[in-house]
Amino acid sequence: MEKINALSIDLEEWYHSELVEGRRSSFSQAEEATRPILDLLDRYQTKASFFVVGEVAEQNPRLIKSIFERGHEIGCHTFSHKLVWNLDESLFREELERFHAVMGKILGEVKIKGFRAPCFSIDNRNKWALKVLLDFGYQYDASIFPLKINPLYGVSGAPTRPYRISFEDVRKENPQSSLVEFPLCPLMIGKLKIPISGGFYLRALPSSFLYWGLRRINRTQPFLLYFHPWEGYDKTPRFKLPLYNRVISYYGISSALRKFEFLLEHFKFTRVDQVLGLM
Ligand SMILES: [Zn+2]
Repeated sequence: MEKINALSIDLEEWYHSELVEGRRSSFSQAEEATRPILDLLDRYQTKASFFVVGEVAEQNPRLIKSIFERGHEIGCHTFSHKLVWNLDESLFREELERFHAVMGKILGEVKIKGFRAPCFSIDNRNKWALKVLLDFGYQYDASIFPLKINPLYGVSGAPTRPYRISFEDVRKENPQSSLVEFPLCPLMIGKLKIPISGGFYLRALPSSFLYWGLRRINRTQPFLLYFHPWEGYDKTPRFKLPLYNRVISYYGISSALRKFEFLLEHFKFTRVDQVLGLM
């Protein structure tokens, strides 16, 4: 039977990406860049999970309402997109409190079940964050990138399919844990693990390879796709960044939305909470 995959959108502004840090401006594109994604999801009758940055919600309450009313899941991507590594426990709690205050105002009493850390910034250095998520009533986290390929993030040796995450070691499963982790699922070819399910990798890899690789993952399990509105938006401001940051930030933006549609056309997707059986 065809696998149903999890689709996640990290709803943030172009300036929340770590690689353009410090270039924040008043140019806001969150709403304009998200609309085409919502229209595509409607066209393919697909629901998704939106991990929303609280300050983006504060500035775009109508957008958040409309996402929710279309049947998508609202998850948390912190209040101000600070990397969790750079926070201590009380600052992290503050981020979540501010996020929930804003969401309460916009959506009323809606249960927020899922969390994604900015830049996948949860690993064993700040595993205390998982306990905080539980205190706030979260049922799942989707912040573990289970391979070390990027200088910033990645947890080598973590499981590559959903698991009940241990609070002692994020690479370990604990069947008693109340928090489910949905890690990004790399393509495995022998011992080789290749990230293909979102962001730069999705923009850089040809559609035919994505199709082949994701089908291969689907032989045994669902995958979790991630995408950012600024990644598929032509007016995302371009800066003279160092070469590495420039390539990772801007490569493939003009064709990303088409690729996103290609995946909607060829794979089945739904909200993360639904794939995890938490609805
Ligand atoms: Zn983000």
